[in-house]
Formats: sequence, structure tokens, C-alpha cells
Amino acid sequence: MQCQPVDPDPFAPLFAPLTSLRGVAETLARLMARAIGGDRVLDLLFHLPESYLDRRARLPLADLRPGMLATVAVEVVRIEAPSGRRQPTKITVTDGSGFAELVFFNRFPAARLGIGAQVLVSGKVTEPRQIVHPDHIVPADRPALLPAVEPVWPLTAGLFAWHLRRPMAEALARLPALPEWHDAALLAREHWAGFVESLTALQAPTEPPDERPRRRLAYDELLAGQVALAMVRRRNRLRPGRALPGTGHLRAEALRRFGYTLTPSQVGALAEIDADLAAPHRMLRLLQGDVGAGKTVVALLAMLRAVESGAQAAMMAPTELLARQHLRTLQRLSPVPVALLTGSVTGKARAALLAGLADGSLPLVVGTHALFQDKVVWHDLGLAVIDEQHRFGVEERLKLGGKGAQADVLVMTATPIPRTVLLTQWGEMEVSRLAGKPTGRLPIRTTLHSLSTLPDVIDGIARKLADGARVYWVCPLVTESELVDLAAAEARYASLRDRFGDSVGLAHGQQDSAVREAALADFAAGRIRILVATTVIEVGVDVPEATVMVIEHADRFGLAQLHQLRGRVGRGQDQSFCLLVYDDGIFDTAKRRLTLLRDTEDGFVIADEDYRLRGGGELLGTRQSGTPGWKLADPERDDGLLRMAARDAAVLLDRDPKLQTPRGAAVRLLLKLFPRSISSRNLRSG
Ligand code: ADP
Ligand code: MG
Repeated sequence: MQCQPVDPDPFAPLFAPLTSLRGVAETLARLMARAIGGDRVLDLLFHLPESYLDRRARLPLADLRPGMLATVAVEVVRIEAPSGRRQPTKITVTDGSGFAELVFFNRFPAARLGIGAQVLVSGKVTEPRQIVHPDHIVPADRPALLPAVEPVWPLTAGLFAWHLRRPMAEALARLPALPEWHDAALLAREHWAGFVESLTALQAPTEPPDERPRRRLAYDELLAGQVALAMVRRRNRLRPGRALPGTGHLRAEALRRFGYTLTPSQVGALAEIDADLAAPHRMLRLLQGDVGAGKTVVALLAMLRAVESGAQAAMMAPTELLARQHLRTLQRLSPVPVALLTGSVTGKARAALLAGLADGSLPLVVGTHALFQDKVVWHDLGLAVIDEQHRFGVEERLKLGGKGAQADVLVMTATPIPRTVLLTQWGEMEVSRLAGKPTGRLPIRTTLHSLSTLPDVIDGIARKLADGARVYWVCPLVTESELVDLAAAEARYASLRDRFGDSVGLAHGQQDSAVREAALADFAAGRIRILVATTVIEVGVDVPEATVMVIEHADRFGLAQLHQLRGRVGRGQDQSFCLLVYDDGIFDTAKRRLTLLRDTEDGFVIADEDYRLRGGGELLGTRQSGTPGWKLADPERDDGLLRMAARDAAVLLDRDPKLQTPRGAAVRLLLKLFPRSISSRNLRSG
């Protein structure tokens, strides 16, 4: 393969901040970052247009029809000044085939449109033979000034296409010459151009692009991901792990305290985990199970096996709140003491804890990211359990793996992960599934209510409270408008308090953690009966007595998130209810999503549907990118490409495990372009 020499870091200018582009100041950079979902030059380059305006055709004025995007070559014959305030300036133009009118309500570009001026005008035809505020007016003898095919990028309030045009051109100019990382035969078969050429065809087109350049770029991204995952899998296979045979005595005691028998699917998952623990290779396993499926007890039993074998075990939760929740569960069941390490454990207590982890006197610990900071030294970490992994990056997953060099890793997720995502982002893991829920649970009764019927909802809640129910009342908290949302949650708290008095509590992420903990504890103990909360309760909170979940502005949540929230009820033996309150003006798609949720409790169905809807349809509330992290590919739509990339990556690494051939070297560059695909770290550690 032909391959020109490449500068050691040809990508530095691409990873520079947007402000490094001429004419992009802080404010504009912030706006751009909001629209493109990143603040580097490369993010701009990967912000693909959703459509194109084709201004190439020149039409005779006689052929203009309302609704057309038209470019006409005309001469100005008449200028009619505004006939009064709020009246437009009207310019009559002709091309010999007829006449048309250009209309300006403000800022009429007088310099370009004097009588007799010959101009190219491009814009949307509104009335027959009328263009209001044309998009472009350029001198007829300088047609190059008119963008022939204009990308239409997704924008955000305050950001206009013209803001992006110059920075985009400059960003494209920064692209270095790159060797080809794809197989020549593949390129020939798919008729794909090179990376730079394809990106240019999309971002600065001279003609409207067909599907090929986008598919090529999607494949770049997919291949990067698959190569990175394949490298991790390979490394795991090569890396010796350790055997954790266990003795069973701690487990038996925990099961005795638990008091229930494990469900068949818990038994099955535990058997798979045990086989990995006993084997001398390293476990990397995902324990996937719907909310309430009973993952925590399975994880604890796995941890106890590590402890029985003389090793330590740790469980990492994404938030302090969840870590404390797990602590309570584990403490209730574990025959050995359980320690807690979070950011809020400081001073002497922290020092003692770190000492205990280092000398091995603390065998079981629960915590947050704090567990895996560089300062934490383990005596002998045998098993790391990560809860709610989807909130951690793939990077963190690896970091954790690197800690106890041979530690087994069990990841628990309560969000069912769609099949496609499993393949793309979790390809390095084995999967165990907990199907169904521990027996004896009634399905949750889910109903939809429009916001205008809120008083009825509240009356219903009053009746449930009279029957002794405990109620979650969730208000959305979307980071983009956090303050407003917080105000809404506080206002709801105040209004419910007016009606229900001291039995109402409030918990949200902006509170002091002690205050929030106290509210949750009061709710768990029944001292308060309605807990107004933001999504801080989304995962892990376990109050079996809570039987009613009200979700306000349900239309603003993702389906998977609603499912998580709903999973907070239905944990005990009593009938539980979930009331989804939606804004009256929501779209049909949003309504359909809520209806789907009403009709099923199957987390896998919901996850696949959520993924499909977010990938394509309308985006509600805060903009969410289809699949977190994908810039160019849509793993669902590009399913075929994904499978191709998986095979391609496997073959590539079989032939060239260290990426040392010319193609391998080029693939290293590809991995640098898509660093979220965990590759850089792997490459460094070989
Ligand atoms: P997850 O972590 O999967 O959301 P949990 O582990 O929190 O689920 O379990 C949900 C509830 O079900 C907890 O109250 C737990 O004690 C209970 N539970 C778990 N396994 C069983 C079982 N085999 N039999 C009865 N109850 C169970
Ligand atoms: Mg849980």
C-alpha cells in the first residue's frame, strides 16, 4: 500500500479549540459548541449538513413558481422606496423573459442594487415572481461569489449558517494529507473517495453529494470503534487473570440474611459469573437486567466469593447517592464489614480507609469514582463491580480494569442496552442477562394525563395518600435550563406542601448532599409521604413501600429514562401506579412514545424503541444526540457497515496485531481521529 510520510501529530490543529479559527470569538464558539456538540475544530468538521441548497440552476423569471429555491440573472430596472412606515423597499428586476420583484423590509443593499446593476440573485420564491429578502445577491460578473451548493447545518438559536461558513472552510483547510486506512478493494467496491475528499464533498460541496461520502465517513468511525474493541478483547485474552475459587461460607451467610431464594435467572447469571471467577483469565462481564431484576444481590454474592478467596472486592456507583444506597443494601446482607469511599469522605476517616484498602484489612468497599483515583492503592483487588455503567465512559471502564491489574470486572446496567449498541460499544464484554423480576410482583399500572388535568391527578394522589401510599413526584431537570427547572421543582414542592403539609419533602441534585440524604431517608422511613424530586432518584433508590410515581413533563424525558424512573415503584407486593403527565402541546411522536411506555414494561422493547426514535424522529426537550458519542455513523441505520467493520477489524488485527504495517499505521491515525473509541490508551500500552 502506498503511504506518504506523516507528521507525528498531524491532528493537533484539528483538536485545537474552535476559538483557534479566525473570526471565532468566545461567544460564537460557545454557540457553535452548542449546535455541534463539541468545542474542537474536528467537531465542527464532523457536524454534517442535514440537507443542501442547490443554487446552480439559472431559471428564466417567467418560470419562477412560489416555493422554489431559485437563482436568477437579472438587471435592476426600478426602485420603489417604502410607501410608509413598515412598508418594504421594492426592486423590480428583469431578465428579458419577464419581470420580478425583490422585496426588502429592512437593510436594502443599495450598493449592489442601483438602477442598471447586473446581479445574480438567489432565494426562495414567495409570491409568484417575488423574492423577499434574497439569500444572496452578487454581481453578475462574479458568479463564483454565489455558493453553488450550500450546506444546511443543524443550528441553534442565535447561530446562523453564515457563522459557520468561513470557519468551516478554514477547518477543512487544516486537514492534513492522510494515508488511506481502508482496504483498496473495499474502496473500489463501494466507490468511496478518501477521507479528506469525502469530508470536503459533504462540507464544501460543488454538487449535492450522494450517500457515498457519508457512508465512507460512517465506516471510518465504525471501524475505529471496532478496531479499538477488538484490541481490548485481544489484550484481555492475553492477560492472565486470577482464579477466585471461593469457599461458599460468606455467600451462604448472605443468602441466609437475604431470606429469599434466588430466581432461576439469578442462579444462571451467577453460574456464568462464577465460571469466570474460577477461571484463571480475566473476567469482563456485563450483567444486564431490567430495573428491579435483582442485580445487586447477584453482585454482592460475586463480591463475597472474591473475599472468600482472600481478595478484595469493590463496587463503584456513578453518584454518591447511589453509593450510599448500595452501602445500605450490602451492609444489610454482608457478613463482612463494608466500607464507603466517596469524595465526601475526607480527612482522618479517608486516611484510615485508604490505609485499610492498602493493607487489605478492608475487604469490601463501595464508592464512587473516588475508588479508582491514582492515590488509591489496593492490597489485592480481585473483583470490581461497576453499577450503572452507561454513565461512565469507556475510558473509565478501562481505567478501572487497569487498577487491580488482574481484577475481574463485572458491570451492572439497569438500562437494557439495544443490540446494536452492545455490539458497538460493549463488544469487549461477555453478557449475562437477568430476565424478568423476582416473582410475586404485580405489573405497574401506567396512565397518561395531560397537564390540564393536573388537579384531578392531585385529587387522585390525595386518595392514595389516605390509603397510606408513598409517592414520588418527579420534575424534569435538564441541564440546559437547570435554573428554570429547579424553580419548577421548588414551585411544585411549595404547591404540594400547601395542600399536603409536612408530609411533602424535596430532593434534588443541587442540594447539599446531607439535606438530600435526609429527605430520602425521611421518605424511606415514611416520615414524609410525597417526595418531590428531580432525576436524582432515577437509579438505585429502593423504597419498596413507594407505590405511586408521578412524572411531570414526561414528554421531556427519554423513554429509557422514564422506564428507569418507573422502576422506582413496583418493588413491593402492592399494586403500583405510574402517572405520566405531559404537556398539552406535545407532538404525536412524543405521545406515541408515552403510549408505548404505558403498554409495556419490557425494558428491552423500550430500549430498542427509544434508540430507534432518538436516532431518527423528532428531538424533544434538550437535544440528545442519537447514540451518545456517535458523530458520523448511525449504528442502527448503518447496520450493514457495522457488521462489515467488525469483520474488517478482526481480519486486520489477525494479520497485523500491533498495527505495524503501512495500513496498520494508517489505522492508528484513524483511531486518533476517533479517540472516544478508547484506542489511544491501548496503543500506548501496546
Ligand atoms: P436491580 O438492582 O436489578 O434494580 P435490586 O437488586 O435492587 O434490583 O432488587 C430489587 C428488589 O428485589 C430488591 O428489593 C431486592 O431485595 C429484591 N429481590 C432481589 N432478588 C430477589 C429474589 N430472588 N426474591 C425476592 N426478592 C428479590
Ligand atoms: Mg440496583
